[in-house]
Order: sequence, then structure tokens, then C-alpha cells
Amino acid sequence: MTNLLVVKVGTSTLTDGRTGRLQLGRLAELAQTLAAIQQTGWQVVLVSSGAIGVGAERLGLKERPTTVALKQAAAAVGQGLLMSWYEQFFRANHCTIAQVLLTRSDLAERNRYLNAQRTFQALLSLGVIPIVNENDTVAVNELTFGDNDTLSALVASLLSARLLVLLTDVAGFYSANPRLDPTARLITEVDRISAEMLQQATRGGSGWGTGGMSTKLEAARIATQSGVTTIISDGAQPQSLRDLVQGKPVGTRFNPQPQCTPSRKRWIAYGLVPRGRLFLDPGAVVAVLNRQKSLLPAGITQLEGEFQDGDLVYLCDSQGRELARGLVNYSSLDLQRILGKQTTEIQQLLGDIELPSTVVHRDNLVLS
Ligand code: GLU
Repeated sequence: MTNLLVVKVGTSTLTDGRTGRLQLGRLAELAQTLAAIQQTGWQVVLVSSGAIGVGAERLGLKERPTTVALKQAAAAVGQGLLMSWYEQFFRANHCTIAQVLLTRSDLAERNRYLNAQRTFQALLSLGVIPIVNENDTVAVNELTFGDNDTLSALVASLLSARLLVLLTDVAGFYSANPRLDPTARLITEVDRISAEMLQQATRGGSGWGTGGMSTKLEAARIATQSGVTTIISDGAQPQSLRDLVQGKPVGTRFNPQPQCTPSRKRWIAYGLVPRGRLFLDPGAVVAVLNRQKSLLPAGITQLEGEFQDGDLVYLCDSQGRELARGLVNYSSLDLQRILGKQTTEIQQLLGDIELPSTVVHRDNLVLS
């Protein structure tokens, strides 16, 4: 594995929470720190938010825009401004940067996913620091990453990074919301992100950014399942990144999962956008979860959504809890007709001798 570091910095760290104005000192410090880390042999990718906030401030808007068109317009104004500041600060530290704007659909097709991977690899091998953001100006509502925490985890997974650092406006993940509860305790190390932790993570944050602790935990879940150590730490102290790459304890560290998901399955799980849900009977739940079996029509009780064969769907238990994701071999229309049926009945119903015997083959199935 290469020594690749992905750092995500949020709007709340880059801008003044009240006015939305860029904190240039923070950007300068970040550029200097990342340049110094690169000097020690690390490859570095920066995922930076701030386009919408900076654009809104330049346009004189009083708060973060809420309509899609206004957000996209603000991002178009802000992204260029943001990059021009990064260019100045990184150049002062003798670093070349590149702007990489991604949309969800860039990762949703396998060949485009691999193409993005190759482009990053080329930039990194040239010693460039790619600065990534969502292409907010053209991203279409349902096909967005939604927040840069998720985007940074997908980039870290795409590139098999060693370390993902989510810089934020608190020192890490706490046992309770540290702004509201004085007894909240910083959790320094996490081996497994439990459902309770996900529930406990409160949404919110400043008025200008999007995420919150729950998107950070979700990002940590994606990254650690891809074998990437993830750290949540305080963006007010970018220099602590130097300690962190040397393995010193900073913020909250989420250890990579021992059984890391292979690359193609990561694309299935995180690159694609799920189009529907299949509800499994208890027998199928055990077969899929514990016995690594493919999913057969007989084990499905109902479905939701409209999808085509080849689309990604969630596999859920009877209560709708997500157990896995996988590529489905039937359209929702065909599947509706064969739910709960045995293979012989299916051939009679659909009348095609070449029909796949599995609804989701285990090679195309990733446990959640
Ligand atoms: N892409 C958005 C921006 O540049 C930020 C998304 C986020 O805050 O996570 O403003």
C-alpha cells in the first residue's frame, strides 16, 4: 500500500461560521502542513468544501442558499475563488495542485470509476496534490454525494489510501455532544462502528457546512471497510496532521476492518446508487449473512423501487434493516412476478431457458 493521505476539510473549518468568510490563515497553514507532509514521502489528496459558502459570501447572500439553482450558482462563483487561494498558498510551498471535481455518476459506471482512479494515480505520480470537491454546479439532486465526508471516504477507498483524516470543528468523536453535555468524553480509538454509535452521532454543525458527526461516522465506516484508517480531528490545528501521520494519537482513530472489501466490491457498495430494496425471509437472511450464499427468488418476500437488471439494490430483513447491497439480475417488473418462487416455476412464468438462477449472485453482493 502506498503512503497515501486523504484529508477532508469542511466549510466550518475553512470559513468563519458567522459570516461565511474564508479564514485565509487556516488555508495557509493547511497548505504549509500538507506540503511538509508530502516532503516526507507521503502522497496527498485534499478534499475541500467551501465552494458554496465562499460563493454565497462573495454574492452577498446572508445565509447558505437552500434552492438547488442558487447553491449551484454559488458553487460556480466560490469554487474558482477557493482554488485561486489554494494555488497561492500551495505555490508558496512549491507544490503543484490540481482541481478534480466529481459527480456521483462519475463513479457509478465501472469504466468511469477506473478512469477516475487512473487520473488520480497519474497526478499523484507527478507529485501533484489533487484538490477534490463535488461538482456542485452540475450535480443533479438525487445523484449527489450529498456531503464531502462521504466523497472523501469514496476517494480514499478508490485510491486504497493508508489514512483518511476528517478535519472538523471538534476534537474528535465524543461519547455525547460536547457542545451540550459537559460530561462528554473524547473516544480515542474505535475498532468497530456500532449501530449505537451511528445513532448517537448527532446531526447539525455550523450553518454553512452540510455534514455533522453522523456523516463522519458513515464516512469512517466506508473507509475502514475499505482498509483505510480514519481519523476525526480538530481542523483548528492543521499542524497536528504532522503528528498524526507519524502515528501519534490525535483525535479519534477508527481502525481498518480486518476483512477489507476487495476493490470491485467496493465499487458495487459505494460507487453505485441503490435503486430499490429487496426484503428477505429469515432463511435467506441466514444464507446471505452467515453462509455467503447467493440470493434466490424463493427467499424474497417483497420489493420496493423500480430497477433494471444490473442495478444496485439493498437487501433487507423483514423490518427493512439493510443487510447487504448487490447487483440484481432481474428488473423489478420481472422480479415482482417470481418472488418466492422456485426455479422451475420461474421458467414457466417468464418463459426463458437462459434465465439467471440467482437474483443477486454472491460475487456481486457486499455485506453492509
Ligand atoms: N461541496 C460543498 C461545497 O463546496 C460542500 C459539501 C459539504 O459541506 O460537505 O460547498
